[in-house]
Amino acid sequence: MAPTLTDPFARQIDYIRLSVTDRCDLRCYYCMPEGHTDFEAPEDWLSFDEIERVIAAFGRLGVQRVRVTGGEPLVRKNLSELTTRLARLPGITDLSLSSNAVQMERHAQALFDSGVRRLNISLDTLKPERFKAITQGKLDKVIHGLMAAKAAGFAPIKINMVVMRGVNDDELVEMLEFCRQHGFTLRFIETMPMGDTGRNASAQYLPMDEVITTLKQHYSLIPGVMPGGGPARYMQLAGEAMKIGFITPMSQHFCETCNRVRLSVDGTLYMCLGQDHRFALRPLLRAGISDTELEQAIIQAIALKPERHEFSEKPEQVVRFMSMTGG
Ligand code: SAM
Ligand code: SF4
Repeated sequence: MAPTLTDPFARQIDYIRLSVTDRCDLRCYYCMPEGHTDFEAPEDWLSFDEIERVIAAFGRLGVQRVRVTGGEPLVRKNLSELTTRLARLPGITDLSLSSNAVQMERHAQALFDSGVRRLNISLDTLKPERFKAITQGKLDKVIHGLMAAKAAGFAPIKINMVVMRGVNDDELVEMLEFCRQHGFTLRFIETMPMGDTGRNASAQYLPMDEVITTLKQHYSLIPGVMPGGGPARYMQLAGEAMKIGFITPMSQHFCETCNRVRLSVDGTLYMCLGQDHRFALRPLLRAGISDTELEQAIIQAIALKPERHEFSEKPEQVVRFMSMTGG
């Protein structure tokens, strides 16, 4: 029987989110503080060799799915060299990437050729001025990046829209029509109180039930399923293939089915987005531990996984903002 990693609450861990950088070429105000410069120093970044070693160990322990994320993963140089190496690892059957798509136009083909198949792209608005206000960046680069990703053959491409009251909640239908036109899956996300930035933005938190109510005024929605859909609940437009996901960390947490851990760029394993349970792998890697010892360390780390986040009960407790942990 294939080995499995199981946490203290009998959840099987088969998914790792791998942050390859805590830097970003955007500054979404709910994610990264304005003027933030306290990034990890390059000597503390796991090298591609170290990342490959850790992911290979997870693969031997039964983890099948890897999502490359950040910060913005495309700002890490030669990313497709890393994804080529990860795609070849035994046991890793699903390699995906989360990106803001700012630099996707240049990298889409190489990433696809390296073995990445599924993409999540953040896009909160289709209005250039509003995009600038939310991210400090340029919308047209993202749109070009998205079109390049579509042309390269990625499927599915999921658009992640963080919905904020009074900021972009008037664009639900427009975004849905955009995704429908291009064959993208659309996922609406509730704002989480990650760090000061997320906490400030969560004042604009909009429960997904309100989003669903608005959409139902315009569309006939039926229950849908999405393979590998993770924590999102899916619906689809009646008579159409288009899927719409709703990610509800705030209004309806999904911790009982959590199957993942996160590896940050400095080699720390984080057990939960909303808790501080962690395990530092980098010192062990640099002290020369064996592969067997690395596997034992990972098993020890998984034993630390807490039952659930407490975003609603203790929003002040999450001091890390999203780009630090790896979203
Ligand atoms: N830079 C890439 C991107 O934007 O897709 C990958 C990393 S980003 C941290 C991953 C996801 O986290 C994005 O979809 C972003 O919208 C989401 N995110 C960041 N801060 C958040 C917050 N406070 N609440 C909810 N989602 C958040
Ligand atoms: Fe960068 Fe992604 Fe955070 Fe926006 S959500 S600041 S694109 S890491």
